[in-house]
Amino acid sequence: MKQIKHFINGEYVESASGRTFEDRNPANGEVIALVSEGDRREVDAAVEAANTALRGEWGRMAMEQRMTLLHRVADRINERFDEFLAAECLDTGKPASMASHVDIPRGAANFKIFADLVRNVPTESFHMDTPDGAGALNYAVRKPRGVIAVIAPWNLPLLLMTWKVGPALACGNTVVVKPSEETPHTAALLGEVMNEVGVPKGVYNVVHGFGGGSVGEMLTQHDDVDGITFTGETVTGTHIMKAAAPGLKPLSFELGGKNAGIVFADADMDKAIEGSMRSAFANCGQVCLGTERLYVHRSRFDEFVDRLKKGAEALTMGWWQDDGVSFGPLISRVHQDKVLSYYEKARAEGAEIITGGGVPDMPEALRAGNWVQPTIWTGLPETSPVISEEIFGPCCHIRPFDDEDEAIALANDTPYGLATSLWTENLTQAHRVAPQMEVGLCWVNSWFLRDLRTPFGGSKRSGIGREGGVHGLEFYAELSNVCIKL
Ligand code: NAD
Repeated sequence: MKQIKHFINGEYVESASGRTFEDRNPANGEVIALVSEGDRREVDAAVEAANTALRGEWGRMAMEQRMTLLHRVADRINERFDEFLAAECLDTGKPASMASHVDIPRGAANFKIFADLVRNVPTESFHMDTPDGAGALNYAVRKPRGVIAVIAPWNLPLLLMTWKVGPALACGNTVVVKPSEETPHTAALLGEVMNEVGVPKGVYNVVHGFGGGSVGEMLTQHDDVDGITFTGETVTGTHIMKAAAPGLKPLSFELGGKNAGIVFADADMDKAIEGSMRSAFANCGQVCLGTERLYVHRSRFDEFVDRLKKGAEALTMGWWQDDGVSFGPLISRVHQDKVLSYYEKARAEGAEIITGGGVPDMPEALRAGNWVQPTIWTGLPETSPVISEEIFGPCCHIRPFDDEDEAIALANDTPYGLATSLWTENLTQAHRVAPQMEVGLCWVNSWFLRDLRTPFGGSKRSGIGREGGVHGLEFYAELSNVCIKL
């Protein structure tokens, strides 16, 4: 049986307790690895290694050398592409067609994009007058914050983890990563890459374990952690905030969503269907930016519902390596139970089930996996938990609307504020509506189209702060003002 160990101070180590937990393949339920389960001893060792690295070679390294190393990390991930791909697909069950286009290349690119960005971002400088006439000169310098705890989810494990590790290292910090207990594989593999390209020991550390009462919580409470960056559920964010409060630790949060799509009367229906298919069903609906509520102008409602149903029914479920597979399983049995509980709620509340609503009949080899059908409903009231709560599954509810103000009000009527997609060929309407959406990301005639230089994050209960581009530097670096009296 494969063993996945912690990566601390440049070495793979088992837990002092000897404890392990199982890593299962979501497509067939088989145990693929035993993972070392950390406790305070591994957390302390990793944080100490990260602190020591800050004061050592890494802390003294010239910026150019640091950036070259980060480029080499990205190149080495791409050289070992097939290993990362297999690790990610075995952990998540997602089709190789998706992971080979999104998870692995974007996961690697995060190191290059932030290295290039940090190299080129200026800081401010002011001359000030003083009573003696000589003046003073102020300038800001950007310094690493220190040891960053990176707490990552399971839906895009490598990509979302390096989205944080990339800028953290580019700014000169060191990291202790706590990957999701569901997907420990690629974070562990990245340790080999760090050693191969010569990143000094202690800069990148990984401790495996669980959240509350385990490694996640221990990291967020640790006195020698200088900042916490977290992607995951909104409720977990509230626990982390409480744990971090006594140490007043800076936080960067990317949280849950209940995202809406609006299809206006003059939408290009081909575009709206293609984008909504991806936003509702990609990664088996396990994308934070995914659309679980669709509002469609009444004049196009029947056409949209009919075409989305055909699209959903054409998705091909199966093993990640098989040709033509476009749809994988949910991450775990626990998550499958959660998603199916919403399928049941929708039925109990009288939804019209346009397609899906249950568990598909899979071939024998995959029957023990966490499969659910892509599902579309209509006819539920907006008060239904199916419409107000994040399900994080391959499902959406579609409701007709009559005018623009109604659509905006419906879309904004949620405590979440992550993303929206607007579908319209009317440029004036797009510009009028986009700023009214209470979200961090608003797409027009697209979904998940990301320029990594732009801000990324959620409004309302979908996040705190912005990552991406220069915006992430507000968290990953500390500005310090130098004032020189002339
Ligand atoms: P989760 O909150 O259950 O877990 C995320 C990570 O936090 C895991 O590593 C987990 O072990 C850890 N954790 C759990 N409890 C903790 C605690 N008390 N202290 C410290 N760490 C703890 O989320 P998940 O189920 O892995 O991911 C799905 C969620 O993530 C969805 O809500 C989704 O919307 C959200 N998400 C948001 C974004 C975004 O960019 N906004 C991106 C991806 C996923």
